[in-house]
Amino acid sequence: MTDASLTRRLARAGFEALARLDGATNVSHLYPDEANAVLAYHAVGEPAGYGNISTDRFRRDLDYITEHFTVGDLPAVLDSYGGKRVALTFDDAYDDFYENVLPLLREYNVPATLFVPVEFVGGCPDDYAYRFARSPIDHESFNDPSLFDGETVRGPSMMSWDRLNEVAADPLVTVGTHTRTHPDLGRIHDRETLEYEIVGARDVLEERLGVDVDRFCYPYGRYSGEAVSVVEESHRLAVTSQHGVLIDIEAADRYRLPRVRAHKEEQYVRWDLSGLRWELTELVS
Ligand SMILES: [Zn+2]
Repeated sequence: MTDASLTRRLARAGFEALARLDGATNVSHLYPDEANAVLAYHAVGEPAGYGNISTDRFRRDLDYITEHFTVGDLPAVLDSYGGKRVALTFDDAYDDFYENVLPLLREYNVPATLFVPVEFVGGCPDDYAYRFARSPIDHESFNDPSLFDGETVRGPSMMSWDRLNEVAADPLVTVGTHTRTHPDLGRIHDRETLEYEIVGARDVLEERLGVDVDRFCYPYGRYSGEAVSVVEESHRLAVTSQHGVLIDIEAADRYRLPRVRAHKEEQYVRWDLSGLRWELTELVS
């Protein structure tokens, strides 16, 4: 074992112990923590898609974050005044957002952003279903669905346009762009395809829902430099899948905002939400 991998293993064991300690003592709340955070949720309810958590678990998350932080709308995490803010985001527009998440957002009166892959609204097409079931990282030709012919992957249940219209009309929910077909933008460099997936998707959402759309989410958190440029020209901010919080808001890149993965075990999500956790990470790395 190399020194570096031993250090990483010790650090991971240390962090898991700290997460448990923090769960028992709430020590992170004694630390002056101004690091705003964005939570990344996917499916909530019966197993339906990537990153599923139960509805009860989501309710416990809401109890916790409304007790300890200010829950703000996504752009508010770029403001540094007024204490620590946490924003909620949901990727992929599953039916369970309408069925399980929206009622709880209303009950707790907290805002959220929903990122929609527009061509999957009304049902995930069979030839794209694998995009929710696999990681693009191991697939050189991930963006070509014809290469997955013959494989049966059941697509998750996606919201209809009727449901999405109702969701978009709720003042607590802001709809954001998540491309048209949920491709790996890390492998797309040509401007025409990027504009179709990024600007075209935004235009469809604005037209069909009658709302302004200015937030973007990179599928799988992956992007090329050219993809970021097109997002910068057409949206106000964008979230990635990079795991982290906004320790230094002044230095934050509003087109590559990190998020905290909300489907991890509860004690780790709570620990990951604390600025203390990330400052310690910087100290040991
Ligand atoms: Zn997605």
